[in-house]
Amino acid sequence: MATRNKNIAKLQAGYLFPEINRRKNALLEKEPNANIISLGIGDTTEPIPEFVAKAIADAAIGMATLDGYSGYGSGLGMTELREKITERLYNGRIGADEVCVSDGAKCDCGRLQVLFGADATIAVQDPAYPVYVDGSVIIGATGEYSAENKNFKNIAYMPCKPENNFFPDLANTPKTDLIYFCSPNNPTGATASKEQLEELVAFAKKNKSIIIFDSAYATFIQDPNTPKSIFEIEGAKEVAMEVSSFSKPAGFTGVRLGWTVVPKELKFEDGSSVLTDWKRIMSTVFNGASNIIQKGGIACLEDEGWSVVEERISFYMENARLIREALQELGITVYGGDNAPYIWAHFPGKNSWDVFEDILESCHVVSTPGAGFGATGNEFVRFSAFGHRDNVLEAIERLKKKLQE
Ligand SMILES: *Cc1c(COP(=O)(O)O)cnc(C)c1O
Repeated sequence: MATRNKNIAKLQAGYLFPEINRRKNALLEKEPNANIISLGIGDTTEPIPEFVAKAIADAAIGMATLDGYSGYGSGLGMTELREKITERLYNGRIGADEVCVSDGAKCDCGRLQVLFGADATIAVQDPAYPVYVDGSVIIGATGEYSAENKNFKNIAYMPCKPENNFFPDLANTPKTDLIYFCSPNNPTGATASKEQLEELVAFAKKNKSIIIFDSAYATFIQDPNTPKSIFEIEGAKEVAMEVSSFSKPAGFTGVRLGWTVVPKELKFEDGSSVLTDWKRIMSTVFNGASNIIQKGGIACLEDEGWSVVEERISFYMENARLIREALQELGITVYGGDNAPYIWAHFPGKNSWDVFEDILESCHVVSTPGAGFGATGNEFVRFSAFGHRDNVLEAIERLKKKLQE
């Protein structure tokens, strides 16, 4: 038989969400009638704009006609969509020919592993969205796992915690080929300021690193002074690429559409173009996002679609405010929730899986244990603002009842 990819065996036990589901199901087995509310997983709950659904439906019906039929596209996305992304989301700061449309940001993170290969060294925020590390493990870029250090040998973890305002201590971060950076951050809800991102860009320049900036939550930023893209920072085009997505702003988690910006100025050490290689990867192992769904993306970015997208974002941010304020009233120290749909609640001295279990058992509310995102998350629990309003209010009531005991 074929041998198993030895890197897959290195993945750390129980990918976070399956483990959460296992514990949820264990509770349901004990208490079959428990009405469990999830503020756990980062999945959208509100419907996509009708205007957008119609555009997708029209494109689908059109496929049954000679005029409306289309086959393979350019592989990097429809020109109209790429132009609309630069206009609506980047103020024209980047060229439409630097936007590479895809089926999602997570999928692009996977293909980035193929782009940079097994020899790339990486730095990640701790805590972080699991795909950066797990993807690197699968390609073999991380070295062995040390149970003692609870770390992979070739990964530099950059702790982000209240003491450093959730921004890494770059002076004590080693030089790596790649730096994954997510702002607004999942799970902490922290956003990096302009000054902090300038520091990050300068650090990458000095070390000749490439920043992979994840801006999946950029549209949730409320503060007008907080950058929504790494490309708002001068000089970033020489050291950064950006992955982003329609998933969270437009409710496209199941529809699937994202993009990666690769500036023409971005070069490898030998002077060759990163964009050229990215195009090669995309045409080799992908073949372009669905042309039907791309029409939906275009509709999102038109005024009529975008106004509903903004309504949805406001709705989730109101959820975030309700959760944040309720937890604060209960005397819990919380972070995030003002420019991101995540609230990062601190339970000093406690283990996050214990806090998770306790909230699940006593309130029937699912949260996400911070340890699932990295060792620095261990005293924290993440609450997601994605949910129907009545569920959010009910969850808040239950938390209040329990914590006031
Ligand atoms: C949800 C999420 C994404 C989006 O992934 P898609 O594949 O586009 O659905 C990307 N990055 C982070 C940090 C996320 O939380």
